Amino acid sequence: MEKIAVYPGSFDPITLGHLDIIKRSRKVVDKLVIGVMNNNSKSPLFSVDERVNMIKVVVKDIEGVEVKSFSGLTVDFARQEGAQFIVRGLRSITDFEYELEMAHVNHKLYPDLDTLFFTTSLQYTYLSSTTVKELARYGSNEVSQMVPCNVNKMLEEKFRR
Ligand code: ADP
Repeated sequence: MEKIAVYPGSFDPITLGHLDIIKRSRKVVDKLVIGVMNNNSKSPLFSVDERVNMIKVVVKDIEGVEVKSFSGLTVDFARQEGAQFIVRGLRSITDFEYELEMAHVNHKLYPDLDTLFFTTSLQYTYLSSTTVKELARYGSNEVSQMVPCNVNKMLEEKFRR
């Protein structure tokens, strides 16, 4: 049976930490569907379409990876994609507590679905979309080390005064 996973997240914007999880999880499943959450309560910097399009550019050379947007529950999105797994990344204890709870709830809602956790690569432990946005807002050069090239350009355009 084809192994399919969804990787849900806000990806506002996608970082090299996310990309690392994408590449590593793709090695254990046949198909990975990146799900960009259409979550209005978070008031994102980039629209869902902008996020989907920037991720498509980032993953264009990785086989077996698709990018879609979704709203509603992750389990419903996973079901719709025929996925058996949800991929999530773990950076810290704080991530762990929240992720553990989510994994239990999702498993209860849909017992056939398991969450696969990937621990972050050391160099990305302190990398978050929030940090990236904060640094980009003040024009820091460090941002180019944290996100793919096309994302860096989009951030520069967003914050150009
Ligand atoms: P959410 O809004 O669901 O937290 P994010 O886009 O912030 O969405 O993150 C999506 C997933 O990627 C989460 O599982 C998160 O823990 C993981 N992730 C985010 N940044 C990193 C990183 N630097 N290294 C590893 N995993 C990460």
